[in-house]
Amino acid sequence: MRLKLLAAAATAAAATLTFATSAQANHSWGGYHWARTANPFTVKLGDNLGSGWKSYLSTASSDWSTSSVLDTTVVAGQSNNSCRATSGRVEVCNRTYGSNGWLGLASISVTGGTHITSGTVKVNDTYFNTATYNTASWKSLVMCQEVGHTFGLDHQDEDQTNPNLGTCMDYTNNPDGPPGNLHPNAHDYDELQSIYAHLDSTSTVDQSAAVQTVGNGRASWGKRVAHSAHGDTYVRDFGKGNAVITFVTWAG
Ligand SMILES: [Zn+2]
Ligand SMILES: [Zn+2]
Repeated sequence: MRLKLLAAAATAAAATLTFATSAQANHSWGGYHWARTANPFTVKLGDNLGSGWKSYLSTASSDWSTSSVLDTTVVAGQSNNSCRATSGRVEVCNRTYGSNGWLGLASISVTGGTHITSGTVKVNDTYFNTATYNTASWKSLVMCQEVGHTFGLDHQDEDQTNPNLGTCMDYTNNPDGPPGNLHPNAHDYDELQSIYAHLDSTSTVDQSAAVQTVGNGRASWGKRVAHSAHGDTYVRDFGKGNAVITFVTWAG
């Protein structure tokens, strides 16, 4: 039995070595990705934000643009306060959405089961106006993470009691805990390279297509498909391969 375990360990070690040159990345969000015919491609981030949030979107935009496969550019928002999805781009909004439990929401419209046609990011000032969350660190983390979801990235770690991994895609009770969870890390860029390694014959970036929008409450998000203490994932199926997937970051 012991020998068998050692053999298994040796095989695992060999496998690790074999794949050491490729990205050790595994936090794709269900294989969802923007269809595009070339890399790098540019995702427009629509700024529907109040003045207190603009610098966080600007930082998230430049952080994610460090990726070799995608760039982002902040443009004027098209959905004002409603945060209605706009085809081919991401709309980013803040509002006092109420004591509904969530700090941030990222939703993507998907067609053909995998191709992202739009994204929305909402940050809830009902919580960000409180002493706990009204900090540059919490705002940086949540903005960076929700925008990251709109490219098809999942979290690297969902146990907020684990030590910080140094990425905004990691749940934490303390964004400032070393090495700090305020920005993407190398693993996120590796994962983006992996998600966007193939090219598509069509593009969903900056294209007009029918997109669906879900609301601010869980009744409109569809079925819960994943759960952890700090976040849940919901899928609302609109049929014919069209769905809206929502990532929820819970407060507290
Ligand atoms: Zn594709
Ligand atoms: Zn998240």
